Amino acid sequence: MATSIDRSAVQAAENVWLMAQRQLDEVATLIGLSDAIHLYLRQPKRVLEVSVPVRMDEGRFSMFTGFRVQHNMSRGPAKGGIRFHPDVTLDEVKALAMWMTWKCALVNIPFGGAKGGVICDPKAMSMQELEHLTRRFTSEISIIIGPEKDIPAPDVYTTPQIMAWIMDTYSMQKGYSIPGVVTGKPIAIGGSLGRDKATARGCLYVTNEAMKVRNIPIEGARVAIQGFGNAGMHAAELMAEDGYTICAVSDSRGGVANAKGLDVRGLVAHKQETGSVVGFGGGEKISNKDVLEYDCEVLVPAALEKVITAENAPRIRAKIIAEAANGPTLPEADAILHDRGIMVLPDILANAGGVTVSYFEWVQDLQENFWEEDEINARLKHKMTRAFRETYEQATRHNVHMRTGAYAVAVNRVAEATKLRGLYP
Ligand code: NAD
Repeated sequence: MATSIDRSAVQAAENVWLMAQRQLDEVATLIGLSDAIHLYLRQPKRVLEVSVPVRMDEGRFSMFTGFRVQHNMSRGPAKGGIRFHPDVTLDEVKALAMWMTWKCALVNIPFGGAKGGVICDPKAMSMQELEHLTRRFTSEISIIIGPEKDIPAPDVYTTPQIMAWIMDTYSMQKGYSIPGVVTGKPIAIGGSLGRDKATARGCLYVTNEAMKVRNIPIEGARVAIQGFGNAGMHAAELMAEDGYTICAVSDSRGGVANAKGLDVRGLVAHKQETGSVVGFGGGEKISNKDVLEYDCEVLVPAALEKVITAENAPRIRAKIIAEAANGPTLPEADAILHDRGIMVLPDILANAGGVTVSYFEWVQDLQENFWEEDEINARLKHKMTRAFRETYEQATRHNVHMRTGAYAVAVNRVAEATKLRGLYP
């Protein structure tokens, strides 16, 4: 099959979809992927764009745009979160869907990759408006989702309550309760214990492995975290419990730092009271940008994409970067960080804990048999530790950075499944 990859477009790493494709291209050469499979994996399997009409509280009617993208389903039903954000684009959702394919393959769960998004500003909407938006969006994408087809989950600015509305809307359409259509639900309707902290817990497990490999003691190791939502806030709590010292954190409004360590409990209480970490008394003001360059052993980007660039990578002082967020590092920055000896635990590894426990949630829903939290955490640790070792082994063998190592493991698994299933018809 002739290759029709547009190399000039691939250079444009500012576009997150081109960045995702470029990451695949790099590993394709390394692992000797055939042209046919490479071209197949470079594109999403299915893209759905929907218009979502919503009656707002004051009676006015608004039209929103939403997306659901399924990248690959060779290894099982598609899986991936739904993002509510004013800046969501189709290209972003396509990239996130592709990353989900690799992530599920890396931790070896039987799912393909998908992602969804709605262009909206949830902070400016009432609960009722959000409910109407969620229900109509669910209805619009219900033609391609389902427990055997594609299972959404939370992502930026989507919550367990929003997952409950998705589950209810889908169930109402079918006429009976179908908890397995979505994960990240509240416990009362089939959610899993441990799901709320799973992304952060998985991030902690792989960071601990990296600390062992790099011979850095955990006790007192300094941590900076950008983003203080589900991933970032829980990472701060769990890492502090494990002996790390959380020195700097930020959210969309700004940040706070204390070289001697922040009181994480107080910080969480402050965030819950005021909606931000800004203004917390136990530290000094720091900008969102400066958090990334803070003097620390571990940096956890846990907000949005493309924050570590060729411009700031030379100034990053952390020894380990654990990507709780998806796509925080541009490819040019990856190379700089690798040359500087900084170990980047790539997103598809570092934040795979969320989808892993989502998989456990789906299994529990299908079996109608729920596990204890200890069992869930032990299973999560096993999967995350194995994925770290496989990634590290590939990175060391090919003398490449951890992202390419992780891609080598994941892309090989997806390629094998795709090849075995063959080309239909
Ligand atoms: P969230 O909505 O709970 O929190 C997002 C946080 O980022 C908030 O603290 C917000 O204030 C902050 N933020 C937003 N814009 C920012 C900006 N410009 N600068 C700094 N901070 C900003 O979302 P989340 O679920 O914690 O997701 C965060 C990242 O983690 C995303 O990249 C998401 O894809 C990734 N992720 C989340 C999960 C999960 O289970 N929640 C799983 C895998 C990956």
